[in-house]
Amino acid sequence: MKLIRFGRNGQEKPGLELADGSRIDVSAFEEDYNELFFGSDGINRLAEWLDHNQTQCPKIGEDIRLGPPIVRPSKIVCVGLNYAKHAKESGMEVPSEPVLFFKASSAIVGPNDDVILPKNSQKSDWEVELAIVIGERASYVSVGEAMKHVAGYVLHNDISEREYQLERLGQWVKGKSCDTFAPLGPFVATTDEIQNPHNLRLWLKLNGKTMQDSNTSDLIFSIPKLVSYISEFMTLLPGDVISTGTPFGVGLGLDPQKYLKDGDIMELGIDGLGVSKQSVKGFK
Ligand code: ZN
Repeated sequence: MKLIRFGRNGQEKPGLELADGSRIDVSAFEEDYNELFFGSDGINRLAEWLDHNQTQCPKIGEDIRLGPPIVRPSKIVCVGLNYAKHAKESGMEVPSEPVLFFKASSAIVGPNDDVILPKNSQKSDWEVELAIVIGERASYVSVGEAMKHVAGYVLHNDISEREYQLERLGQWVKGKSCDTFAPLGPFVATTDEIQNPHNLRLWLKLNGKTMQDSNTSDLIFSIPKLVSYISEFMTLLPGDVISTGTPFGVGLGLDPQKYLKDGDIMELGIDGLGVSKQSVKGFK
């Protein structure tokens, strides 16, 4: 299934994108895509409910705004430098174990919402990423068991303010957590929709020009490894997001460096996970 949420900001309802691309409202199921839903086998319960109720579900118009496809999770855990060429362009070593950082979950917006540059931002940058959504609570899970804890996959633009991230003191979190810095979606594809998450093309265009074009086959640390590894340090709750890192081609790595400005358009996509598009707006 492809889980979507739609409607005005803060008033989103749950829906589904069907195989033919049309969208239906499943709010009659009376659950939203949150920790309780994912943690109580909601995906299977929803599939079963659909068997009896799908024909009564209202269609959603194509002009309706898509919100983030999950309710704000307890945390977004991001993985840094998980593609070798990106580590190099960032001037950093390929890490010997996963580099982790947090991104505030308040940064999440819908897939096609505007990205607002923070006040006085000079160095906001793009990062297309494959993100995963946790299904079952995960604490000290083995690599072999890890995939049982994954509910699905989602497209993520891990927007990053490089000055805040790298030139200010302390942790990367400062450059990763500004409002609108986590466009998610268009949908969460449940794991059965994606045959091999480690062979997906991912790309990003800025104003129509391809900046990133890579494949998740180049991930240094695989999805099961990441889930297992992170679960040694914290409990992953249902609905939590892990963003697996960005490939080569960010603005930081260009010579001269190039950063987002008011009026820019980002388009990004991953095989099987759809496409998102954000307009960049200056702070007002
Ligand atoms: Zn990232």
